[in-house]
Amino acid sequence: MKSLPYFCRGEVVRGFGRGSKELGIPTANFPDSVVEHLPGDISTGIYYGWACVGSGEVHKMVMSIGWNPYYKNTKKSMETHVIHTFKEDFYGQILSVVMVGYIRPERSYDSLGKNALISAINHDIEEAKRNLELPEHLKLKEDNFFRADGSNSTTTSNQILNGH
Ligand code: ADP
Ligand code: MG
Repeated sequence: MKSLPYFCRGEVVRGFGRGSKELGIPTANFPDSVVEHLPGDISTGIYYGWACVGSGEVHKMVMSIGWNPYYKNTKKSMETHVIHTFKEDFYGQILSVVMVGYIRPERSYDSLGKNALISAINHDIEEAKRNLELPEHLKLKEDNFFRADGSNSTTTSNQILNGH
């Protein structure tokens, strides 16, 4: 995918109560404005990369890009699971991510069942952790993109920064 690495940021919005948290794997959702800017060659599926909430630390992440059943699969969603334990939810804060690599195509919850889904995601998390240790990927963790002050006027919640 020629658009990788892909940088973007946006406000964390409420999802559709698909119960990610109950699975032990909360996913922070981006608003439509961010999803609509995705380049055409970024297909649905599971990605890994780096993520940062507000001006916090940069953590490893896995992201699911999928057709949203809530909208009868006419809209895509981008959901990021940050591989870090947070003390509190961070709805309304700015999430900055860089998508670095692709893991696998999307698989529906219904076709898999709960336990298989959880183990698939845990598998994705392990793969993400491993791949992100490669020097060329570690480099992106230090990118200036994550140092930008999220509170200034050039990085308001809906602005997409790519290629910076
Ligand atoms: P929703 O349907 O609103 O997206 P989830 O059950 O997927 O609900 O939970 C997502 C929320 O959990 C995020 O918006 C964020 O505020 C919070 N959260 C806490 N820890 C994490 C994490 N490690 N990764 C992603 N979101 C997290
Ligand atoms: Mg979610």
